[in-house]
Amino acid sequence: MAYNITLIPGDGIGPELTEATRRVLEATGVTFNWDVVDAGVDVIEKHGTPLPEHVLESIRSNKVALKGPITTPVGYGFRSVNVSLRKMLDLYACLRPCKSYAGTPTYFNDVDVVIVRENTEDLYAGIEFEKGNRETAEIIQAIQRLSGSEIRPDSGISIKPISVTGTQRIVRFAFEYARTNGRKKVTALHKANIMKFTDGLFLSVAREVAESYPDIEFEDRIIDNMAMQMVKNPAQFDVIVCPNLYGDIVSDLGAGLVGGLGLAPGANIGDEAALFEPTHGSAPKYKGMNKANPMAQMLSGVLMLRHLGEFGAADRLENAIAAVISEGKKVSYDLLPMDQRDRAVGTSQVADAIIERMG
Ligand code: NAD
Repeated sequence: MAYNITLIPGDGIGPELTEATRRVLEATGVTFNWDVVDAGVDVIEKHGTPLPEHVLESIRSNKVALKGPITTPVGYGFRSVNVSLRKMLDLYACLRPCKSYAGTPTYFNDVDVVIVRENTEDLYAGIEFEKGNRETAEIIQAIQRLSGSEIRPDSGISIKPISVTGTQRIVRFAFEYARTNGRKKVTALHKANIMKFTDGLFLSVAREVAESYPDIEFEDRIIDNMAMQMVKNPAQFDVIVCPNLYGDIVSDLGAGLVGGLGLAPGANIGDEAALFEPTHGSAPKYKGMNKANPMAQMLSGVLMLRHLGEFGAADRLENAIAAVISEGKKVSYDLLPMDQRDRAVGTSQVADAIIERMG
């Protein structure tokens, strides 16, 4: 059976990475019907929006999408396509595994953490009030009236909503993921000592949900302490669940622990659809240079194969990627020490080496 998958190449290094990934996915023997659709700043002229309706329709109908990174130009007056896709399709769970592969130049060789980031709420909800606007002045007055707190009139304001509903479903997702994948522990991140009604709510709901999963250990960490513990002893963590902004920061930290953004895959999962994309962005300075590491995009493809239930193909592809990393001969520049980078191979040659490995 061929799977119908929406393929969004993205921009910057996206088209090169998704092409390399399409090739290795097809080499696993699984068959796909790719519905290739474009989004981002380059389609605005043609469609009047960076996220045309037919892109959303394609994902809603296929239920699974593989996506390259998309640039969010600064000062363009529209929201990030990446954030909009997550919100409009209610892809509430962002899954970001950080795993050490032998042969990667890093300080740690025993990291195997999965970060589950809430994807729809928190300071990322996009509810913002610009300094100097009439609405902002009204909000400032209302806050002064309702809470007695003074806010300087020249302030900008971002709102941080965290709900019981949103927290319940993300924490349940983390525990279900732990159970299905043989994981032993879930750690919740927060700053509940300071933000009692948002992070405090997140923590108390997480504790309640944890009671339904007595087979999985539960603990919590304050986010600043977590930052220190993750760089000191990352192997102690298994599954991490957190609100949106902490998840964003901790997943880049996790990527750094395992060798950088070139090895950090991601999945955005909701009840109706799932979208697989690397943690990194479009790295415009490497656009069209056949230079960027396609492995984060490919490992996102591995997550997609597992989501489709193609566990054998997923293991074959992940093992081939691991073998190419550990051999160290056909890897991109970012996986080599500074003094050996002149022997790096390009994006498409990395794909060739992985396909060769899969036989
Ligand atoms: P970035 O992740 O694109 O790049 C940061 C640096 O990391 C690059 O300059 C490069 O040195 C390195 N890097 C990233 N990916 C790599 C790869 N595959 N191989 C080797 N090196 C790699 O971050 P940025 O420069 O902050 O963002 C660029 C654009 O991407 C921005 O417009 C941003 O909004 C967007 N972005 C998109 C997504 C997404 O599509 N989900 C995610 C993050 C950022």
